Amino acid sequence: MSAPEQFDLVVIGAGPAGEKGAAQAAYFGKRVCLIERAPKPGGAAVNTGTIPSKTLRESALHFTSLRQRGLHAIDLRVKPDITLPDFMRRERSVIETEWEIIEQNIERHGITTIQGSAHFVDPHTVEVTRYGTEPRLVSASHFLVATGSAPLAPTGYAIDGEVVVDSDSLLTLQRIPTSMIVVGGGVLGCEFACMFAALGTRVTLVNARSRLISHLDHEASDALRQAMTARLDIAVHGNVEIAGLQAVDGRARVTLTDGMNLDADVVLVCVGRAGNAGSLGLDKVGIEVDERGFIRVDSQFRTSLPHVAAAGDAIGYPALASAATEQARVAVCHAFELQYKRRVSDILPYAVWTIPEVAVVGQTEESLAARGIACETGRASFRHNARSQILGATDGFVKLVFSPEDQRLFGVTIVGEAACELIHVGMTVLAHGGTIDYFIQAAFTFPSLTDAYKYAAYDGLQRLQRRMARLPGLPAIPRERVSGD
Ligand SMILES: Cc1cc2nc3c(=O)[nH]c(=O)nc-3n(C[C@H](O)[C@H](O)[C@H](O)COP(=O)(O)OP(=O)(O)OC[C@H]3O[C@@H](n4cnc5c(N)ncnc54)[C@H](O)[C@@H]3O)c2cc1C
Repeated sequence: MSAPEQFDLVVIGAGPAGEKGAAQAAYFGKRVCLIERAPKPGGAAVNTGTIPSKTLRESALHFTSLRQRGLHAIDLRVKPDITLPDFMRRERSVIETEWEIIEQNIERHGITTIQGSAHFVDPHTVEVTRYGTEPRLVSASHFLVATGSAPLAPTGYAIDGEVVVDSDSLLTLQRIPTSMIVVGGGVLGCEFACMFAALGTRVTLVNARSRLISHLDHEASDALRQAMTARLDIAVHGNVEIAGLQAVDGRARVTLTDGMNLDADVVLVCVGRAGNAGSLGLDKVGIEVDERGFIRVDSQFRTSLPHVAAAGDAIGYPALASAATEQARVAVCHAFELQYKRRVSDILPYAVWTIPEVAVVGQTEESLAARGIACETGRASFRHNARSQILGATDGFVKLVFSPEDQRLFGVTIVGEAACELIHVGMTVLAHGGTIDYFIQAAFTFPSLTDAYKYAAYDGLQRLQRRMARLPGLPAIPRERVSGD
């Protein structure tokens, strides 16, 4: 084997974290090598997760009458003559464009790429192996491990990729199943349940907890469950688990812990994810991982070997593409002492691409209660919003959580059309430490979904005024501030 090639930074994994971390270092003049075992960059975000699933969701909404349910007769079926290749063609074209964008970014930054699987042979050297080629050694003063995560295997039964699938193998199915059991009521389970129900699949969701996406605001979780059951005909079973699963003649029979039997064409298992650290030889160089294979890092994203940083899904929570890219940039800035990005924003919006969408930023009533912080709330239903009426999308609401003392915004939860875009209005106010007065004073375009923020703020002030009548001692609110007409 020839002598190791030398770089300032070696990045392992070309998902969102690896790509952006590599580009950040190269931008500041570092010699960077990016190693990716897959033939194409993009990681889970482009190849198996975010982009394929969100493209499928968009196609499902486009090809069905779901988006126009308030305008036309309620018909939740896929429009006739739509086939699976129609869906896959769109997904393929989005993914190919994403590959191009990433490859251009890598090239523009003069980053060296190597295809192969990397593992540490000593603290400053990795070996890159690829079937049919000579192993290569690559050395650097700094490393960024951005190897992502993979679906957690269920216990008691196996993923076969055909009848029992996980989120990776699901998107390779060659047909839209007639019936599906989704195991897991977390974000991915709920998102896929909605997408396939929209495509006409009869979906049953089995959840070990009582609430769907249990960390959501309780009203958002309840509204989502209501929309999923009433609008999409999804059968939701809470507080139960899988007691047994058999795949026979291309179909699955599932027995639940409450004794119920369910049959379906496909079982989709979404029970969490585990870090992809297994093949990296981290133990050989003394890098610590936790019990789920996530790499332990400090506030500067340094592992237990300080010249090796880790970012993105490889370190676990929050496991979002947006967080992964920011973590990687911050990690690189610390590694090379660049006075540029020193910390990841602590205001991270959170999107759930169910039907309807749910988005959250900042605190919820529950998270504040857990910390013993008092709050007031204000809500506006999209039923009373003109733009929602025009769109025929009146499900959902904007909910503000704020301080009863000075009306400083603590958090926003939105359920409904465009929630994942609308949430950034709340995010901006939060980031500037603003109060709900911003929404009251602002002039939003009309008709717009954003206008719902104003009415949620009026509702909040009116609630606060009623509370003050019961609990004197809070600062008085002038009458004209609470008069939402
Ligand atoms: C179904 C699904 C839907 C999602 N939807 C969203 C969403 O809507 N919004 C959102 O923000 N996030 C979403 N996510 C999460 C998002 O995809 C991840 O947070 C993001 O991809 C993490 O980026 P990453 O770079 O850390 O890891 P990854 O994207 O997983 O990339 C890791 C890369 O490392 C490579 N690799 C691993 N080991 C090695 C090795 N030894 N040598 C070389 N290369 C290696 C892998 O091949 C991969 O390309 C979703 C995920 C899934 C599964």
